[in-house]
Amino acid sequence: MEQFVKPTIVVSKCLEFEHCRYDGSMISDLFVRKLKDYVNFIPLCPEMEIGLPSPRQALGIMETDQDEVLIFSQTGEPITEQMVTYANDKMEELKKIEVDGFILKSRSPSCGIKDVKIYKTYGKSSSLPRKTKGFFG
Ligand code: SF4
Repeated sequence: MEQFVKPTIVVSKCLEFEHCRYDGSMISDLFVRKLKDYVNFIPLCPEMEIGLPSPRQALGIMETDQDEVLIFSQTGEPITEQMVTYANDKMEELKKIEVDGFILKSRSPSCGIKDVKIYKTYGKSSSLPRKTKGFFG
């Protein structure tokens, strides 16, 4: 009989694995739930892995003259460096094992891959017409 090799997939931990979102919630995701028996999941939450608690202040991406920065949405305090360092280190670590793919939470300033809002400033501000990727995504 043919042996089925389970693929190894990195997944955002808030999708079915842990209440690790900024508001302490977890997201119910039927697709991920159904795959659990057939996939070796590696769940990770970049925001918690850089030391933030859950619940926590929401993060967001803000445009500056030079670049995009990851900030605490309410105060504007930057957290870009911590996330970039974490993302680079984690990717080096993941290169050592055979990862077959990623399932990352959409629209997250950390995990999103293409549909993340960018703001002109911190606090209450409307988002720019273009979208970007998250700092881990
Ligand atoms: S989207 Fe990513 S960073 Fe945000 S809670 Fe989920 S796993 Fe953590």
